Amino acid sequence: MNGTGIIKGLAVTIRHFFSTYFADQFGLGRAKAKRGTMMAEGLFTVQYPEESVTVPEEFRVIPFLVYTIEEDGQKKYRCTACGICAKVCPTQCIWITRMKNEETGKPVPESAEFYIDIDKCMNCGSCAEFCPFDAIKMDHDFRIASYTSGDSHIYNKERLGKPLEYYAKIRPTNYAQEEAQRAAKAQAG
Ligand code: SF4
Ligand code: SF4
Repeated sequence: MNGTGIIKGLAVTIRHFFSTYFADQFGLGRAKAKRGTMMAEGLFTVQYPEESVTVPEEFRVIPFLVYTIEEDGQKKYRCTACGICAKVCPTQCIWITRMKNEETGKPVPESAEFYIDIDKCMNCGSCAEFCPFDAIKMDHDFRIASYTSGDSHIYNKERLGKPLEYYAKIRPTNYAQEEAQRAAKAQAG
């Protein structure tokens, strides 16, 4: 029958309109939780930037360097400056120098400088995948636009560094697996 498609389409729109209204007004979180996903019952879109969609664990933006805080309050980066991430990076946007012992001049397994050109990074995740020390991980933070021309898009070690707790929070499954492997290795001696 002519016009059936239009009526069906309007019915879908009305259903989503009311579903959104009830979710927002009466706190029926079920619809709100699905907003921005294919399962959305209310609005398909979110009111960005006030609202944003929860990204999946494997979501990848720019890499970050994992550090822990030592007893003396100093940051201890996991990175040993082995250079594997820089070698496997397809866009060659990682640049590292290794620290040296000031007295002996011998290399120390720690980076002195660590830079990533985030304009060249293609978010592939190879650096994180190949790092043998779980020292570099892919971040979820996609709000990295800069508003002034002077902002550097070459991130240094300080800017790339994030605490282990942050990694555990954004990638809980990966973190738990790695910690379980670490514990099993330590037990095996
Ligand atoms: S982040 Fe990992 S792969 Fe890259 S230099 Fe450091 S330890 Fe090596
Ligand atoms: S995510 Fe890919 S492109 Fe970006 S720094 Fe890592 S290896 Fe390079």
